[in-house]
Amino acid sequence: MHASWLVWPLFGALMLQGADRFESSNLLERLHPRASAWRAEHRLIDLHQHIDSTPEHLARAVAILDLAGIGVGVNLSGGTVTSDSGKPSVFQQRKELADRLFPGRFLHYMNLDYGAWDHPDFADQAVAQIEEGHRLGAAGLKEFKRLGLYLRDQSGELIAIDDARLDPVWQRCGELSMPVSIHVADPVAFWLPYNQRNERWTELKDHPKWWFGDPKVFPPHEELLAALERVIVRHPGTTFVCVHFANNPEDLDWVEDQLDRHPNMMADLAARIPEIGRKNPERVRELFLKHQDRLLFATDFQVYDRLTLGSGGSGPPPTNDQAQDFFMKHWQWMETQDRDFEHMTPIQGDWTISGIDLPENVLRKIYFDNARELLSASLPPRLLQAHHLSEDFDLSGRLDHPAWERTPVTWLDQQSLSGEVRAEAATQVKALWSEHYLYVGFRAPFETLHVYDPPNMEGERIGLWERDVVEMFLGTEPEQAHRYKEFQVAPTGERLDLALELPHRDFSWYSGWLTAVHVDETKGQWTTEMKIPITAVADAPGAPRPGPGIRWPVNFYRMDTSRKGFMAWNPTRHGSFHRPERFGWLEFRE
Ligand SMILES: [Zn+2]
Repeated sequence: MHASWLVWPLFGALMLQGADRFESSNLLERLHPRASAWRAEHRLIDLHQHIDSTPEHLARAVAILDLAGIGVGVNLSGGTVTSDSGKPSVFQQRKELADRLFPGRFLHYMNLDYGAWDHPDFADQAVAQIEEGHRLGAAGLKEFKRLGLYLRDQSGELIAIDDARLDPVWQRCGELSMPVSIHVADPVAFWLPYNQRNERWTELKDHPKWWFGDPKVFPPHEELLAALERVIVRHPGTTFVCVHFANNPEDLDWVEDQLDRHPNMMADLAARIPEIGRKNPERVRELFLKHQDRLLFATDFQVYDRLTLGSGGSGPPPTNDQAQDFFMKHWQWMETQDRDFEHMTPIQGDWTISGIDLPENVLRKIYFDNARELLSASLPPRLLQAHHLSEDFDLSGRLDHPAWERTPVTWLDQQSLSGEVRAEAATQVKALWSEHYLYVGFRAPFETLHVYDPPNMEGERIGLWERDVVEMFLGTEPEQAHRYKEFQVAPTGERLDLALELPHRDFSWYSGWLTAVHVDETKGQWTTEMKIPITAVADAPGAPRPGPGIRWPVNFYRMDTSRKGFMAWNPTRHGSFHRPERFGWLEFRE
């Protein structure tokens, strides 16, 4: 968290310097301005990385991701949850270290231990591994291309991708909302003759184990894909992220058809833009637009003793600058119409790629919104910083006091139950504090307002939340999560506050708060300001008072009833908003 703040100004400086220096190519200016802003805010999520969990390698990864504008890296190499003689498992150690050194920057997928494959109770034991991984915070399960190609049972037979002994594993992942990232097969060229005429020769000669062209040893490419398809069909409740552009980037028609058929299938882009980028960009763009909800930004960025940028070989180790270039090529391909430029992983082959110039709404889905929905059970709780005010001010309802400009914004834009992102209703939330008051502002775009007419401006209407409102649930003590206050304001100015000590609700409680609302019909947005006496919220004996670094549990919500928006800042993944275990944090700053 802190590292990213330090690097922020550097990022800006680099952008400017880069724009100066490369005026002839002016790539930075041609990137999508909104996407550049998302990168400045570190909103991107890379769904496919492999990071060695040591302090040095994590720090190197974070430095590179900060400059690239990626906030969260999903480390698919979390390791197994097998523990020897009571010691923490590899998974536990890796996750613990990354969470401690760089909280919120990495999610970890677990890997399966096949050691007991030949035991009759393997399936039960494997399900127990998944449950243990879930308990330890695994965001998903990653399966490497070893199924069907490398893993063998004690009689020497390859373990098939669709072996029935694995069915309970896929099943349990679905029940626990753990997506499965699965790699099967490899580039088609790895099944073609092993010689210099193979178009992937540069890569293959450095990785002879990646050649699968001997039919006496390996199944055909299409059989591996067919086996995976059978698994996907058998487990409709499990989401399968088929990595490397659905494991078959050579055949866009096949990928399109698979995505059409299987709603529980997604595809990541990891290390395959060089392949899909050499195809007709109009055709690729059309596929991306059609399946914009099912594609995920991912790179196969790897940090071990050396960096790997999509793939690697025996050449000199890539530098951090080359890593920036690697990410920049991704932006260039997604965001521009540039034709025939060098791709990001030269070892994969000697050809060029052409950009697909995606529109903004699709870019944000692929860069982060699809991942936020997919990972809504495991992304870390969000945090809103409230900056300090030396002087109180009167509310206008318009969020036009200069102090609002100086405090950071956060976005309330996910369906509370599913985590689905509603970009069209994305609502800004900001907070400020003084010695006596907490100020909270909402800026909410709308299409049609649905409110009580006439509003009840005298008393309080129980049921206000059945029409359009913005809401805040705010506690003070993390250990007393079931004790919090609720505040609701409607576009009419009608409002409601109450105190909760679950399961009890006290509607007679009154905070003595001030509120103001402004509806701008032309802009299609309504704004709200709340000014809440701090003593009303911190009313328990010994409740922590605001001060720099203090965090209070909080969640924000919005009912946008005409668009069926039942939105939460931190999705509760439940029909009720009253899930304090899913609250995020309000952090008081200087
Ligand atoms: Zn990978």
